Amino acid sequence: MNDCIFCKIIKGEIPSLKIYEDDKVLAFKDINPEAPVHFLVIPKIHIESANYLDENNMAIVSHIFKVIQKLTKELNISEEGYRIVNNCGENGGQTVKHLHFHVLGGRDMKWPPG
Ligand code: 5GP
Ligand code: ZN
Repeated sequence: MNDCIFCKIIKGEIPSLKIYEDDKVLAFKDINPEAPVHFLVIPKIHIESANYLDENNMAIVSHIFKVIQKLTKELNISEEGYRIVNNCGENGGQTVKHLHFHVLGGRDMKWPPG
């Protein structure tokens, strides 16, 4: 858990471009943006992936979606639309083992994903 990059970002040990923070979550710009708007929203508690959500920590997901709604409105991508992505595990393409939701917008998104 100590070598988790996102826990280090939360603690300020690794710099990030923060766009929102409260006692439960942090939102910051992805270092390698895949769209004109690309930020990540993460819980401040270390949850490895969606596989590790349970009745004790599940409320954070509801809060994260509330924050996403607020931020997409502020960034003016709410009306035109955007994509929320959660990669889970090996086949899901998860590279950082700390639950995070990507928010991508500012361009037309393709489907199906690669
Ligand atoms: P995953 O592939 O696990 O769903 O997404 C991890 C994301 O975290 C990637 O889009 C990657 O660019 C981003 N990322 C990895 N390390 C850092 C970092 O140190 N700072 C920031 N801002 N983003 C990072
Ligand atoms: Zn972590």
